[in-house]
Amino acid sequence: MKDSTKILHSIPVDKLTGAISTPIYQTSTFVQKAPGVHKGFDYSRSNNPTRKVLEDLIATLENGTNGYAFASGLAAIDAVVKLLKSGDEIVAVDDIYGGAFRLFTHIYQKFGITVKYVDATDIVNVENAVSSKTKLIWIESPTNPTLKISDIGEIAKIAKANHALLCVDNTFASPASQKPLDLGADIVIHSATKYLSGHSDLIAGLVVTNSEELGVQIKFIQNASGAILSPFDSWLVIRGIETLSLRVKQHAENAQKIAEFLLTQEIVKNVYYPGLPQHKNHEVAKRQQKYFGGVVTFDLKIDNKEHATHIVSNTKYFKLAESLGGVKSLICLPCEMTHKSIPQEIRYKSNVTDSLIRLSVGLEDVEDLIEDLEQAFNSLSNKFTF
Ligand SMILES: *Cc1c(COP(=O)(O)O)cnc(C)c1O
Repeated sequence: MKDSTKILHSIPVDKLTGAISTPIYQTSTFVQKAPGVHKGFDYSRSNNPTRKVLEDLIATLENGTNGYAFASGLAAIDAVVKLLKSGDEIVAVDDIYGGAFRLFTHIYQKFGITVKYVDATDIVNVENAVSSKTKLIWIESPTNPTLKISDIGEIAKIAKANHALLCVDNTFASPASQKPLDLGADIVIHSATKYLSGHSDLIAGLVVTNSEELGVQIKFIQNASGAILSPFDSWLVIRGIETLSLRVKQHAENAQKIAEFLLTQEIVKNVYYPGLPQHKNHEVAKRQQKYFGGVVTFDLKIDNKEHATHIVSNTKYFKLAESLGGVKSLICLPCEMTHKSIPQEIRYKSNVTDSLIRLSVGLEDVEDLIEDLEQAFNSLSNKFTF
């Protein structure tokens, strides 16, 4: 069965009524026949039928054994870190999502978990960083915002050889494009806020494991810590996933054309997009991803924050906002928005310059999107003299 068929048909028809859309079980508790005798559901923190449909769906999509839904991507990340104990070490990608950095560094270091950050695009760096204390390797591919690509299969081998778990944050690629568990990862997490829900209308997170044993541990943490996804938001994510294949394909098609357009622009310095042959790890991306994604990042020849601010403030269709993965295009200036808390010298080391602009390319007609960028660039040369 192909993925798009699998997506639609692993959402079960409701057994009770035949409803083709998953019912929303908006309930906290379930009436029991006798004490402890019930139909698999006793309390909605522990288990909820609507959430269960989403959890089974994401496990199927990622080719995992168990899936779990959380109140946010960060709650999903938090559940995975709770597999560790004091004295353990995490080796994480240096371009990690800012919220994950904050959680690892400012919450978990207090509890005696140490973190080493490495440039995982070169696996030698991962190999050198791993020690006997390493219990978890954490990567994102592509990363935010410069879309660095790491070789998931090769890093999985390092994790196995060192008895560490490999967790991949698969938010940017989505399971329509990349399946880390098939490449040897142990755990996948998602901010379902992005491509999975796809409509910028909720916050949600997912965890998928490659074994029942790991799944049981995540389930225990989910119930013990309680950061579960609500029935209504679970339903919205299911609904989003129904169109995931189509959306991801079109996001990538539009993004590729925009990346190619940006390459022709006089004012643009670097274009970051894994679908461009000049991208450092284009070959790895081609091997492990079906599509190259919907995020395109670029910076300006004149590295000037005012110029970049002018551009992001003067697009019509690209709306100025954080986040990504929705049907409507967004534009963002990381140095003032998503990456504001990172000191300038550190930002510059990972190419997050003052003029770096991130696009989340939506599903508008790509000709309109290119025209929109063109008019913003033109208005820049009208306003500033170069
Ligand atoms: C947004 C995001 C997160 C955090 O998810 P929330 O749903 O905002 O909590 C984690 N990882 C990546 C790559 C993200 O883009």
